[in-house]
Amino acid sequence: MEILKIEHLSKTYGKGESAVKALDDVSFSVQKGEFVAIIGPSGSGKSTLLHMLGGVDRPTGGNVFVEETDMYALNETQLAIFRRRQIGLIYQFFNLIPVLTVEENMTLPLLLDQQKVDKKQLDSLVNTLNLQHRLNHLPNQLSGGQQQRVSIGRALISNPAIMLADEPTGNLDSKNSSEIVDLLKMLNKTYHQTLIVITHDERIALQADRIISIEDGRIAKDEVIRR
Ligand code: ADP
Ligand code: ADP
Repeated sequence: MEILKIEHLSKTYGKGESAVKALDDVSFSVQKGEFVAIIGPSGSGKSTLLHMLGGVDRPTGGNVFVEETDMYALNETQLAIFRRRQIGLIYQFFNLIPVLTVEENMTLPLLLDQQKVDKKQLDSLVNTLNLQHRLNHLPNQLSGGQQQRVSIGRALISNPAIMLADEPTGNLDSKNSSEIVDLLKMLNKTYHQTLIVITHDERIALQADRIISIEDGRIAKDEVIRR
């Protein structure tokens, strides 16, 4: 089943002489349960692509369909709600809220949507992420790997259709990186979580089903590794 469809996606920042074409007519589809790594040199448009897939910023051309929804046909309010429910975003620097506890950070997307926290689901997620004894801690009381697991929890709390990650191991030491790579792989294999990950980390690229290389805002290569 096709879960994500990108058609002729373009993004230009700025206008006139200073305009930067960050994405230039990018099209591809992702099947449910696929694990896609996005690689490419710095400045090639990877983060821009992820932002367009994540509804963080609007493209200047083209469409993004998540399941049946044409994301950029939504207005700002609808898009914000759609994003919180259907897209789990993970960043290199975790982006946790320092004054909120682990539990509060994880359940924030539900709170913002005035949705109830399902205690059973939260417990199960907390166990999967091995954060049982950290729920009342603040982010700065945790290791980098633990903080990234909290941000993965926040991304998964609303059962998103797709999970997007921008260099999820970029700020972690080797041991914590491996742990996060294993966790992402497990979420993909066990829960069939669709994953799209920007990475320079070979360990992640080696786990992916498919590697898309971006160069100068275009797809330079799209390789299926297995299946
Ligand atoms: P990557 O993630 O591959 O490093 P980016 O998507 O961050 O690439 O950037 C692609 C190009 O777009 C670069 O030339 C970058 O400087 C430019 N760019 C990215 N974001 C912005 C922005 N908000 N405003 C202006 N230019 C931007
Ligand atoms: P990455 O390695 O993830 O691409 P960057 O340092 O390129 O990190 O970008 C960090 C943030 O700054 C991103 O949100 C990106 O969109 C924005 N950005 C990148 N290049 C520019 C730019 N030339 N002008 C304004 N914002 C930019």
